[in-house]
Amino acid sequence: MVSLGLEEKVIVVTGGNRGIGAAIVSLLIDLGAKVAYTDLVTDNPQGLGIVADVTKLESMEAAAQQIEAELGPVYGIVANAGITRDNFFPKLTPLDWDLVINVNLKGVNHTIKPFIEGMYERQAGSIVCISSISGDRGNAGQTNYAATKAAVIGLVKSLAREAARYNIRANAIAPGFINTEMTLAIPDKVRDKITAEIPCRRFGEPADIAWATAYLLSPVASSYVSGEVLRVNGAHHT
Ligand code: NDP
Repeated sequence: MVSLGLEEKVIVVTGGNRGIGAAIVSLLIDLGAKVAYTDLVTDNPQGLGIVADVTKLESMEAAAQQIEAELGPVYGIVANAGITRDNFFPKLTPLDWDLVINVNLKGVNHTIKPFIEGMYERQAGSIVCISSISGDRGNAGQTNYAATKAAVIGLVKSLAREAARYNIRANAIAPGFINTEMTLAIPDKVRDKITAEIPCRRFGEPADIAWATAYLLSPVASSYVSGEVLRVNGAHHT
């Protein structure tokens, strides 16, 4: 019997109430991890759900305290919460920029910061940030979103270099188009056009991202992988 070595590991997933985050929570539980998730609403019955807003450091600090009190020291972090405020560049407002930066970029900092020193002390852990195909190859109508997702790649690559001496790894996943509420907003005509450009000729499923996350969290499967960006996009590359 082979194991990913995630049994009993405490793992935190932000934005775990639905979509990709919920699929990650579900798979990690199946793999034997002790999973907490944070979100603005917590009606996903799987895992320990804690209401916390990634845009607020103090909210994430309070969540971190509760998670470690209830489940124990955190081994894994999945910075998944993300939003879009799409429009063509001339039409994007300062608010569209602020909202997206606050969740997708500052939110990643607020997610990792409360845990990182404890992880350094324990010298064990893995951090996975959910970036995007938009941050990797750009996407019309998403300059604000793509900027945050590219920034997260820079954060991960730098953190991987800093944290390696403490035996902590940091990686990013760049999903292509995945079937969640985020992509339900895409009009059918545009969806058909995008699908025709994807060599696999379909959108991905949340479980595709969950398995990539489990791989990058695993101390067995990916112990020598850090500072990497794993594209999961049906060959929809740059
Ligand atoms: P969804 O919109 O389906 O889910 C996002 C989750 O994040 C929701 O539960 C949402 O909560 C939560 N969230 C939003 N803002 C906050 C906040 N301030 N604090 C805490 N939680 C918050 O998105 P996906 O599952 O599709 O996306 C997950 C991640 O994957 C995101 O980072 C996204 O950018 C990325 N991604 C998605 C792709 C796709 O095609 N779907 C492609 C590439 C990347 P609420 O329900 O309250 O709004």
